[in-house]
Amino acid sequence: MEFLVDVNEGDDVERVIDKVALVSGGARGIGAAVASRLHGEGARVVIGDVLDEEGKETAERIGSGALYVHLDVTNPQDWEAAVSAAVETFGSLGILVNNAGIVNFASIEEYTLEQWNAVISVNLTGTFNGIKAAIPALKASKGGSIVNISSIAGIRGYEKIPGYTASKFGVRGLTKSAALDLGHHGIRVNSVHPGVISTPMTAGLEMDMSRVALSRMGHPGEIADLVLYLASNESSFVTGAEFVIDGGDTAGTVTPPAGA
Ligand code: NAP
Repeated sequence: MEFLVDVNEGDDVERVIDKVALVSGGARGIGAAVASRLHGEGARVVIGDVLDEEGKETAERIGSGALYVHLDVTNPQDWEAAVSAAVETFGSLGILVNNAGIVNFASIEEYTLEQWNAVISVNLTGTFNGIKAAIPALKASKGGSIVNISSIAGIRGYEKIPGYTASKFGVRGLTKSAALDLGHHGIRVNSVHPGVISTPMTAGLEMDMSRVALSRMGHPGEIADLVLYLASNESSFVTGAEFVIDGGDTAGTVTPPAGA
């Protein structure tokens, strides 16, 4: 059996140089951090979102090699246009980050079909639409990496977010099925499961982090670092896997030190 000792480039090489990435929900929050991090490591990035002003500003802030496109992930035509923009502007597509997501709240008794349909169509069907739209371009690139942003709500249940929890479990399952179907094309598919991250989505929510091992929320840049690994060739043998990044939240509860 052949043992590969070093399949990666030297340390000083930008980690996703010459790759082109499409990041949904990239105007702000985790998606903006991911787009910025990938760009900083040599990728050209297409940011898709429904927040056009914020999205354009984010692309301008990132600079040359970043492009904003309007992308409602529930709309397959928008996805076709976003993939075409990547290929036409930057020549190819090698990385897809399905990040766009929404959350809505109510106990299952009060939760409405409208709430359910809204969250499933963005978080789960939006991810499905993205994978479907990107496959031809990823195949043309002789492979690539799809990173689906799920949640720790895709690992265990949470009260009063039934649609969100179901959608994020769905993303986890869809990831594994797509990984099996696409592996022979050299396309890897993995899911990322953040805990509570400080973004506009969580702004204003009461969060007690005192019983979490690291006793704090995460930062968008910390999620971006994990996505960078999964997008790069450093993760060349990683597919169909789920990556929890939650400061220890799902590991169990801790007793806060006395006086904390
Ligand atoms: P965010 O700050 O709200 O950013 C999400 C972006 O996606 C927003 O710009 C949002 O626009 C956009 N979006 C919503 N619907 C869309 C659609 N149909 N098409 C395209 N874009 C759409 O949220 P975030 O915290 O960065 O979350 C990013 C991802 O991480 C989500 O999938 C979320 O579920 C996941 N996540 C977040 C946390 C957390 O604690 N923050 C934890 C676990 C997982 P609007 O303002 O119009 O909604």
